[in-house]
Amino acid sequence: MQTDTIAAISTPLGEGGVSTVRISGDNAFQIAKKVFKPQSNKDLEKMKGYTAAFGKVYDGDELLDDAVALVFRNPKSYTGEDTVEISVHGGTHLIRRVLRAVTSAGARLAEGGEFTKRAFLNGKMSLTEAESVMNLISAKNDRALNIATKNKEGALSKKIKAMTDKLLFLVSQISVFSDFPEDETLCISEDDFLTSLKEILIGLNTLISDYDKGKLIIEGINTVIVGSPNAGKSTLMNLLSKTKRSIVTSIAGTTRDVVEQTAKVGDYILLLADTAGIHQTDDEVEQIGIEQALNRLDTADLCLAVFDTSVPPTEDDKALINRIKNKPTLLVLNKNDLLSSGGEYYEALDIPFVKISALTGEGEEKLVDEISKLLKLNELDPNAEMLINERQYQTVQRAVASVTEAISALEGGITLDAVGILIDDGLAALLELDGKRITTEVADEVFRNFCVGK
Ligand code: GDP
Repeated sequence: MQTDTIAAISTPLGEGGVSTVRISGDNAFQIAKKVFKPQSNKDLEKMKGYTAAFGKVYDGDELLDDAVALVFRNPKSYTGEDTVEISVHGGTHLIRRVLRAVTSAGARLAEGGEFTKRAFLNGKMSLTEAESVMNLISAKNDRALNIATKNKEGALSKKIKAMTDKLLFLVSQISVFSDFPEDETLCISEDDFLTSLKEILIGLNTLISDYDKGKLIIEGINTVIVGSPNAGKSTLMNLLSKTKRSIVTSIAGTTRDVVEQTAKVGDYILLLADTAGIHQTDDEVEQIGIEQALNRLDTADLCLAVFDTSVPPTEDDKALINRIKNKPTLLVLNKNDLLSSGGEYYEALDIPFVKISALTGEGEEKLVDEISKLLKLNELDPNAEMLINERQYQTVQRAVASVTEAISALEGGITLDAVGILIDDGLAALLELDGKRITTEVADEVFRNFCVGK
């Protein structure tokens, strides 16, 4: 298939060691030759794949910089097309000039994710592998990186393929049955048919139930810090985020609105929101802050409720407990370094707690363990295949709905050919999941969120 040749800056913009423009498509060599002149008499078009040439890069007659051109020959490149990568010294203006020279020489500016989209369309990677590239780039912790790497290596693809093959086999059995209903020689019995469907459903449901936990690891845990004024919320926020952004004073009510911060705590990313102390007040500004804090509580993945255990619990503290007891809450029993007079009250409640000193940092590791237990992140099998985005999740949900319906229909005595329609829907969802059968709209949507140059 004839494709136009695309180009983009494929390194981050800024000052650094090197910056690279990637050119991919049928005319990659001819275009690169117009801007890049090798020092030796090498001809880019005749160079072997995975070899490099040193030379100079020009915009017309104007010399821009020394450069290295790296050659990839179709199909052995990221996109599966002829590709040249021209690297120069790392500088924003310089690399933009190189890109301009390349587009003047005939390349079209690539759209976001277009290189990876071509890799997918040329069969270099499945759709879930392509999607994992984005997660590789944006991974902020080891666990997220591990999930992305495994998917990039095809772990999820393999699992989807195994389930797809099973469904395809069942569909083939149904068509044999429909074509020759009088010949009751199905390769598998109706019981085995049902068992197979149930096994597929278990596999799909595991993907669904792990998704929420995986999302917390990949995207971060939306965490709200609540507590009475002076409990130590800002000190805790500063401890976790290792900064001094929240204002810490001993005057109650200092944090009046929501202060946000991202913190890497253990191997988790906490998207922290430090809120106004929740308590009865006539101060209108404070009341707005308290309102915001309560709203945050409703949507948070995790609530860290901070209490000053050096003093007995107040009525406000008790009222707060009532508000949060049914949410995913960890009681943070703070000021553990002081003589305690209020800790026992909280410890007797049926809510997970951790004793810490936000001031000295004592108990921080335990806090991470407790968060992991509370959100069941410790139960996540590090080797399990995982869905990594909403598209994948929604598509698997569709497959779950169809397979569940097919099982109930079979159990309810519906004939195999009627059940076949439901199984076809499940199969269509799985084929879409890994891009085996996909509309251009879905493909465009997947790659729209990629950065330019990837
Ligand atoms: P907030 O109103 O809940 O945000 O409370 P702050 O973080 O501003 O803390 C109120 C006061 O308690 C400050 O003087 C802090 O230094 C102090 N404080 C916070 N955490 C601790 C702790 O663990 N131990 C001790 N001794 N003091 C603390």
